[in-house]
Order: sequence, then C-alpha cells, then structure tokens
Amino acid sequence: MTEQDRNNLVELQRIDLKILAVQQQIRDFDPLLGEVEEPALVLESDAQKTRTRLKEINLEERQLELGVAEKRERQKRLDERLGSVRNLREEAAVSAELEMVKQALQNDEQEALSILDQIRRMEGRLEELDEAITEARGIVGPRLEELISGRDTAERELGALEQDRENFVHKMDPLEIRLYEGIRRGGRVTAVAALTEDGACSHCFGIVPPQLQNEVRHGKSLIRCEECGVILTLTEYEDELTGVMAAEESVEEEAAVSQEVSGETVDEDQVDE
Ligand SMILES: [Zn+2]
Repeated sequence: MTEQDRNNLVELQRIDLKILAVQQQIRDFDPLLGEVEEPALVLESDAQKTRTRLKEINLEERQLELGVAEKRERQKRLDERLGSVRNLREEAAVSAELEMVKQALQNDEQEALSILDQIRRMEGRLEELDEAITEARGIVGPRLEELISGRDTAERELGALEQDRENFVHKMDPLEIRLYEGIRRGGRVTAVAALTEDGACSHCFGIVPPQLQNEVRHGKSLIRCEECGVILTLTEYEDELTGVMAAEESVEEEAAVSQEVSGETVDEDQVDE
C-alpha cells in the first residue's frame, strides 16, 4: 500500500462521513416539519369531521321536514273528515287518529327545531375553524418554507457529495474499494483507523503486533487490525479520522433500534476478504 492509497482510503472515509452527516441532517427535518404542520393539520381534520357531520345532519333535517309536511297534509284531511262524520263511533275514531297525528307532528316539529339549532351551532363552529386554519397556515407557511428550503439545500449538498464520491472512487483501485465496502457492510462506519503512537488500533484499542505495526509504518502491504478488521493507517491522519467513532456510535445505535423493530440481527463483522 502506497502513501497515496492510504490517503485515498482516508479521503474516501472522510467523504462517507460527510454523506452520513448530511443524510442525518435531512432525516432531522422530518420531525420538525411534522411539528410545524401539526396544529393546522389537527384543525383541518376537525373541520373535515364537522363538515361531514353537518352534511349528515342537514340530510336528517330534510327528511324530518318531509315528514312534517306529510303529517300536516294528513291532519288537514282528518280535519275535513271530522266535519262530515255520520255517527259518533266514526267521530271517535277520526278524533283519535287526529290526536295521534297532532302528537306526532308536534314531536317532529320539536325535533326539527333542535336539529336546526344544532346546524346553526355547527356552522358557527366551522366558521371559527376555517378562520383558525387560515391563521395557522399563515403562521406555518413561512416556517414551513424555511424548513423545506433547508432540506432542499441539504439534499443538494448530498447530491454533490455523492457525485464527489463517485468521481473519487473512479480513481481508486477497485480491490481497495471492494475491501473498504466489505468492512463497512452492515451499517459499520469505520473502515479506516489510525495506528496510535503506542501501537494500538484507534478504533478498537486492541494492540497491534510489532511486526504488523512495522508493516503499517514502513511496508507497502495493506494491514488490517486483527481485532476489528479496520484498515490501519499512520497516526498522521488521526485528525482527519476524528469524529469517526462518534458517527459510528450514532449509526450503530440507529441500527440497533431498527433491528429491535424488525427483529433481525445483522452480522456487522461480515467482511468481504
Ligand atoms: Zn481494531
């Protein structure tokens, strides 16, 4: 492994870390967008339900009005019949029926009044809701635009980084890329780590045998940590690899959460060699 190869691997990991960071940045927008939109969405859902209920209740009211009209017609006919009854028995029967119709009519009219009252209140509520929605949208709008534009910027940055990576990978040795990708399989972030001055792997802190340390420092072959499998580079890249551990921890936490959810386990040590 030449110095250039080591530089390439460190640079590739640096690009990948940036990509991970920007991907996280993009994901972080989702809960923010949800929070901003929620009040307006709650109001809109409330208004939608009220509108549906209002439609139903208007239909009920129309049915009731039809019933009232029909009963009034019956009442009129019975009144007429009462004027032309031929005997007491017939009069009693018509009177009883008339009384029943009157009672039913009274009930229907009472109910219609109560429904009309409900409709008026519901219409008032809907008006209030629509005003509140307009107001909420007015507040939400600018903040939403700000968030969406922030996310767009991050997405463009991600696109540019992915393009950078592609261009960079083209210049690299395909075998190195394969090894690098193999180490990172299963959500692992770190594929390259520095050999510390006292001869440990800066990723797992395992001691690297002196012979291998020597190879890393002076040799040309590609040396991997026997404990964790990362490609070892010289300490001079340590600064560039700072942040790798933190990024890896956060990614692994996420992986652990999604594994719990899916009930699967991923063998993170599976390496393509
Ligand atoms: Zn190690």
